[in-house]
Amino acid sequence: MNRFWSPVVRSLTPYVPGEQPKVENLVKLNTNENPYPPSPRALEAIRAAAGEALRLYPDPGADDLRQAIAGFNGVAAENVFVGNGSDEVLAFVFQGLLHHELPVLFPDITYSFYPVYCGLYGIDYRTLPLAADFTLRVEDYLVPNGGIIFPNPNAPTGRLLPLEAVERLLEANTASVVVVDEAYVDFGGESAIALVGRFPNLLVVQTFSKSRSLAGLRVGFAVGDAGLIEALERIKNSFNSYPLDRPAQVGAAAAMADREHFDRTRNAVILSRERLAGRLTELGFEVLPSAANFLFARHPGRDAAELAAALRERKIIVRHFRQPRIEQYLRITIGTDAQCDALAAALEAILD
Ligand code: PMP
Repeated sequence: MNRFWSPVVRSLTPYVPGEQPKVENLVKLNTNENPYPPSPRALEAIRAAAGEALRLYPDPGADDLRQAIAGFNGVAAENVFVGNGSDEVLAFVFQGLLHHELPVLFPDITYSFYPVYCGLYGIDYRTLPLAADFTLRVEDYLVPNGGIIFPNPNAPTGRLLPLEAVERLLEANTASVVVVDEAYVDFGGESAIALVGRFPNLLVVQTFSKSRSLAGLRVGFAVGDAGLIEALERIKNSFNSYPLDRPAQVGAAAAMADREHFDRTRNAVILSRERLAGRLTELGFEVLPSAANFLFARHPGRDAAELAAALRERKIIVRHFRQPRIEQYLRITIGTDAQCDALAAALEAILD
């Protein structure tokens, strides 16, 4: 604590430092990275960009990348905004589109950055409890609000809100912006991007960090009505006109174009998820249905914090949240089958 800090800074809790340990040979199943390498075409494009051309500024409009994202999703480039990871895109969304007199609504169990952004930008918010099975109840959101945001599939639960429920929510809420954070949608969800043409208040946020294996490149994007995209551009342009560096722009565009690699790796993750869910169930865990690249599970007879610590001793790291309602759950990222097998074997030994 420093005496010059503002009240906002004093209220912040730094990111859990233990989540990115600098230890070798870890089985790292704690931050939902993809276990497979990025598309070789993306790596080639990044290598080519990391040369003499770095003396030149990147394209401030990121036109080629926005075009690649637009083409993949069947929208126009004016419907696409790109940023340094979806975390930066979300920061602009909170600043530019969710700042109103009424509170912003999001679930009580959700991506932990939402309340942090609200705190940073002075935005009032209300959390709404998920149902007992951790699904989102659309009816709860049909109240006056200053915006609605939720991840779909949700994090850290992995539970999916079907597209028709998203549509119902949009139909009943036309007065404020609805943000669907689809960081994990490619592992079993249906994207709300299909609804963008019908709802000028819908913004869909996605990332290259998960299904495109590019968490280290920091590229995220938003798709929505051109009016919403313009708000994000205005914020970006007011202090930083270069959204992404040259390697990130070309690498992400090449990853978007490699449909075959995308489908192969995400299908492998989905198969491994179902396989691991079966193994954990055999070991006595209750596993929530997941449409993401992670599982959310608890063991009725064992304390989750102790299980996480025992796994860590065996160099396997999973995520445990000290938050009411979910403190007995572990969030386990889907690794390769070999990593999932190592996790299951370790749990079997610990539970023995
Ligand atoms: N949204 C959700 C729900 C997430 O879990 C994450 C990853 N932690 C992000 C957004 C941010 O991802 P990135 O900044 O890597 O795109």
